[in-house]
Amino acid sequence: MTQHSASRAPRLHGSFDQLGRPLGSLRLSVTDRCNMRCGYCMPERDYVWLPRESLLTFEELDRLVGVFAGLGATRVRLTGGEPLLRHDLPALVRLLSARRPLEDLALTTNGILLAGMADALRAAGLRRVTVSLDTLRPERMLAFARSAKHPDVLEGIAAAQAAGFERIKLNTVVIHGFNDDEVVSLLEHARAHDLEVRYIEYMDVGGATRWRSADVVTRGAILKLIADRYGRPDPIPDPAHPRAPAERFRLRDGTRFGIIASVTAPFCRSCDRSRVTADGSWYTCLYSEDGVDLREPLRMGMDDTALSGMIRERWANRTDRGAEARLTVADRGALVSLEGLRADPRREMHTRGG
Ligand code: SAM
Repeated sequence: MTQHSASRAPRLHGSFDQLGRPLGSLRLSVTDRCNMRCGYCMPERDYVWLPRESLLTFEELDRLVGVFAGLGATRVRLTGGEPLLRHDLPALVRLLSARRPLEDLALTTNGILLAGMADALRAAGLRRVTVSLDTLRPERMLAFARSAKHPDVLEGIAAAQAAGFERIKLNTVVIHGFNDDEVVSLLEHARAHDLEVRYIEYMDVGGATRWRSADVVTRGAILKLIADRYGRPDPIPDPAHPRAPAERFRLRDGTRFGIIASVTAPFCRSCDRSRVTADGSWYTCLYSEDGVDLREPLRMGMDDTALSGMIRERWANRTDRGAEARLTVADRGALVSLEGLRADPRREMHTRGG
């Protein structure tokens, strides 16, 4: 069989849900703690933290990744909370990057601790990093995210590049009256530093207790801001990644950027993502109320075959289209009330992994 015909052969392995969506991408939250308090994610003063003893160990995480990979989830992203707060994260990266057939292992971080860890993460086998950067103005970050560490974030990005990470992406949540006047300057910054921005529509999930539809800067509005400055960007077709949430564009000078229109044009129909909280609850949708407890069976000695069967069965019954369902809500506000979040911290974005 030629290489060409092999790549076109039907996929024999993998798990598919009720809408034919494969179990493809796994977001692994390694901690619910964070060293920032972004207004769209953790705006409150106090949080209910997961008990430390409930967090999955690196060995448990590695085992779970092996089981998920066997079912087709071969793309893994480490997230949180702030994943770099998890002690000795490079040791986990080393375990996971030795796993076959893992196709992709990536990390999303706020970058504050990245400068001190980029070399170790790279040496451990991490290949891709996304850094969240919502503003180029330190005083804005201080007011919005209660962190004075803006210089550390920029240093972290530079250190990651020096460590050999290529095509580093920036995640930017765009919010009216906070940073919508920085859409162009962030793109300029990205161009100057060989980074690629992903503008994200402000979502009403998890801890976004102050979400109002009026604060969402839509895909259309972001494109207009960019087109007014540079001319209309061209869409970049991406047939190799039909399930990628970001729509990518190119300016005339070749600068690329992406938009994730999770609010106005949800990608539920192609969503192959699921999430495991730091304490081992598995969620098949960012908007799901309930997760599947994987920690208990792991710790009770369930073997990989049984664990795999449990996950496969749950995925086979999956019908979630959480973001699309939100489009039909008339008077839309925050998804979960503050009391609801206090009662179940796994509904928080920082627990579930954004
Ligand atoms: N602490 C890490 C970071 O800052 O990247 C990882 C966790 S954070 C929850 C992951 C991503 O979720 C970040 O890029 C963040 O901007 C995004 N995020 C959090 N709350 C969001 C919201 N309400 N709407 C859209 N994106 C959100």
